[in-house]
Amino acid sequence: MGTPSNVKLLDENGIRLDGRGPQELRPIRLRTDVLERADGSAMIEWGGNKIIVAVYGPREAYPKHTQDIEKAVIKARYNMAAFSVDERKRPGPDRRSVEISKVISEALTAAVMVELFPRTQIDVFIEVAQADAGTRIASLTAASVALANAGIPMRDFVVGCTVGKVEGKVVLDLSKEEDNFGQADLPVAVLAKTGEVVLIQMDGDLSKEEFNEGMSMIMTATARIHEIQRTALSEKYKEMDMGGAE
Ligand code: ADP
Repeated sequence: MGTPSNVKLLDENGIRLDGRGPQELRPIRLRTDVLERADGSAMIEWGGNKIIVAVYGPREAYPKHTQDIEKAVIKARYNMAAFSVDERKRPGPDRRSVEISKVISEALTAAVMVELFPRTQIDVFIEVAQADAGTRIASLTAASVALANAGIPMRDFVVGCTVGKVEGKVVLDLSKEEDNFGQADLPVAVLAKTGEVVLIQMDGDLSKEEFNEGMSMIMTATARIHEIQRTALSEKYKEMDMGGAE
């Protein structure tokens, strides 16, 4: 965080480096059924992010000590491919991916009817093939669609978005440059119907007013992103009606 003097993130009209206005999302494309061998799957392209999610389960939780006698345990594993970022990323888990896996698991647990499947686990494998800022909320948005695609009963969808502060202004859906050189980054995920916050993290500083402004931008954006989730799932059913034809 912190802007080096040679990076200007907003022009004199408040337009961002990639041409977006302050409340504009990057383009989002979401598809289901992208993998044959998973129980459910989804792929999301969000700006330059490309993320595939595979869901397996519910199946008996293993090792046994991870079982919960009252509910299913959601085990999300977030992984960034070595080639997903500019400089090759060292393969394998690191502190960041362990943290993201944990917050994603917790957020999804709030949406899935886990009490229906005691002693089981639901695996959610998240593979980031290309990272471009906002991967945790893009992953969550796709994971909740992949869970629905697997036929897992859910009380609601998880849908996420990020706001941040660049050059003193609150802006929606940070780009990579804004994430790197901006003053704050606030990823949030909510349940689509109720608006309940199931993930919130903050890097940098926002005043109370900026925080409230950002949350209101997030609520508007997540309603739109939820429409994209619903369309992705209904497209699948349309294809089934037509016998799988395109
Ligand atoms: P998020 O992807 O949820 O915004 P971060 O704020 O931690 O999570 O990361 C922001 C962006 O920084 C990532 O989307 C990715 O583009 C980049 N990034 C994260 N980790 C690495 C890494 N190890 N090497 C290079 N770039 C990275």
